[in-house]
Amino acid sequence: MSTTNIERKVVILGSGPAGLTAAIYASRAELSPLVIDGPQPGGQLTITTDVENYPGFADGIMGPALMEQFREQAVRFGTEIINVWIDKVDLSQRPFTLYGKDSEDADEITTIVKADTLIISTGASAKWLGIPGEAPVPEGLGGNGVSACATCDGFFFRGKPIVVVGGGDTAMEEALFLTRFASKVSLVHRRHEFRASKIMQERVLAHEKIDVLWNTELKDIQGSKEAGVESVTLFNNETNETSNFPTQGVFIAIGHKPNTELFKGVLDMDDVGYLITEGKTMKTNIEGVFACGDAQDSYYRQAVTAAGTGCMAAIDAERFLAEHHVPNAAKNTPTNW
Ligand SMILES: Cc1cc2nc3c(=O)[nH]c(=O)nc-3n(C[C@H](O)[C@H](O)[C@H](O)COP(=O)(O)OP(=O)(O)OC[C@H]3O[C@@H](n4cnc5c(N)ncnc54)[C@H](O)[C@@H]3O)c2cc1C
Repeated sequence: MSTTNIERKVVILGSGPAGLTAAIYASRAELSPLVIDGPQPGGQLTITTDVENYPGFADGIMGPALMEQFREQAVRFGTEIINVWIDKVDLSQRPFTLYGKDSEDADEITTIVKADTLIISTGASAKWLGIPGEAPVPEGLGGNGVSACATCDGFFFRGKPIVVVGGGDTAMEEALFLTRFASKVSLVHRRHEFRASKIMQERVLAHEKIDVLWNTELKDIQGSKEAGVESVTLFNNETNETSNFPTQGVFIAIGHKPNTELFKGVLDMDDVGYLITEGKTMKTNIEGVFACGDAQDSYYRQAVTAAGTGCMAAIDAERFLAEHHVPNAAKNTPTNW
């Protein structure tokens, strides 16, 4: 099989809100960026339904439709998008080299990309339990009553009873946040004590709207496309009893994993794997490599914040190219974008 070789001043890894915003800015600066799509073209929002908190869409917009708009806008200004799974990177010298395969399971490298600057926007993945009902619609009820983001979806559960799964700080935060909307929050935890910080546990245990179901595991989720979630199957691992528990929403809150394995040992990251950037910038510890979006942000994890940091990464990359006198790179300065 032949190998495709591509060289670009700006290469953006990931096509979620962060990557495509970086592409809009870099392409409007006439840097002809290349976006590498990877396993989830359009990113995490393509597996959800209504997005009601992205500014500019007064009536809300479906996640896949929003990402299509991002994509069209980036392409309109000259962004090229390729669908390749990046398997290996060499950041030891500039230009950097990225090795791509046609899919995650493929053996052969089919694309080699050389990049003067690299913007990493590989996002993060919510951890899931792996039960059938949580799969995205249409296979399961993911995005239709099952969520991994209370900030994103809590609003849809006004006056409804919901179940939250988890025992760490993420679960405590999600459960407390959801009390603003839900009629009742049942916190399902498989052990007899939480891993969360003491203060968060105290807040949860004192909250009148939250009930904790200890030693309990979520085994399945029932419902339909039309009705959403109707009930869940719970298993008490102390009594070995299985029960059907009525509810109208399920939030899986067992943490997130940034998609940064590729950069382990090369780029600075925290204990969980979130890429570390310098001060107010999106610069990583390697000159010419920038990180943005959920791969770099463990705290806000929203489409609009990912887009914001994508913009910042593109401006940082453009300034880097101008400072390093890469031809044509200084044509547009950030001030006249
Ligand atoms: C179900 C759900 C609902 C949500 N609802 C909302 C909401 O209503 N409002 C809101 O603001 N936020 C919402 N979010 C959060 C929002 O989707 C994320 O904050 C946002 O998508 C992060 O953008 P990103 O560009 O950093 O990464 P992502 O959107 O995660 O995109 C990552 C990109 O990197 C690519 N990639 C990863 N690894 C590789 C690789 N090795 N090679 C090539 N490419 C790779 C992927 O294919 C993908 O294109 C929701 C999230 C989920 C899961």
